[in-house]
Amino acid sequence: MMSLPLSTPESRLHAVRMRIARATIEAGRKAETVSLLAASKTFDAAAVRDLAACGQLEFGENYVQEALDKQTQLADLPLVWHFIGPIQGNKTRAIAGHFSWVHGVDRLKIAERLSAQRPPGLPPLQVCIEVNVSGETSKGGVALSALPELADAVAALPRLQLRGLMAIPAPVADRHAQRAACRQVRLAFDALNSRGHSLDTLSMGMSADLEAAILEGATIVRIGTALFGERIYPG
Ligand SMILES: *Cc1c(COP(=O)(O)O)cnc(C)c1O
Repeated sequence: MMSLPLSTPESRLHAVRMRIARATIEAGRKAETVSLLAASKTFDAAAVRDLAACGQLEFGENYVQEALDKQTQLADLPLVWHFIGPIQGNKTRAIAGHFSWVHGVDRLKIAERLSAQRPPGLPPLQVCIEVNVSGETSKGGVALSALPELADAVAALPRLQLRGLMAIPAPVADRHAQRAACRQVRLAFDALNSRGHSLDTLSMGMSADLEAAILEGATIVRIGTALFGERIYPG
């Protein structure tokens, strides 16, 4: 089998879409149940524009100022912006005002501020709670034991719509270990729905583990490297 040249945004996007399609087939799921979020942190507005020209319209950003700069430069495009980075208390107003989705909510104080600061003219902010599954490297995320109480409180906030859970499992090469981490998130999601929530979003799966995440029920995969190439952090 000849491999595609992955030197263009279009070929990289095609390759990622193929991986998603194959994984949904393996999982016995419909292709349209998984959506692709392009994690564009550190890549400039031109790179986002190139991908948008290929039909990718959902983008995830981690750093507020970097994101706002790109949004200004790309204001002519119908893009949907997700905030996927850690949320500092002094950034909630900018996040509430400039994003459609926030994936990393992990404490009530932050959720309350986002709800209070969501501008009246915009629809409710779409929110995922980040959970800290065992082996997770990031310090973010609520412990599974504290999740039900946080989910109840977040769901009650007027200007937020709680959509589901997000996780950043520790990078491991082994597919079974990848799946085990994602399965914990899925089980927590199912448990919340059994308790009366109506969550429809599982945000998990990155460039290295999107197949495992889809096999465990991911509905949004957040892909950076496989779409844009290796990140180079300034400084
Ligand atoms: C950067 C980032 C991604 C994308 O990671 P890749 O491994 O480059 O695909 C996904 N989710 C979050 C929260 C990120 O910060």
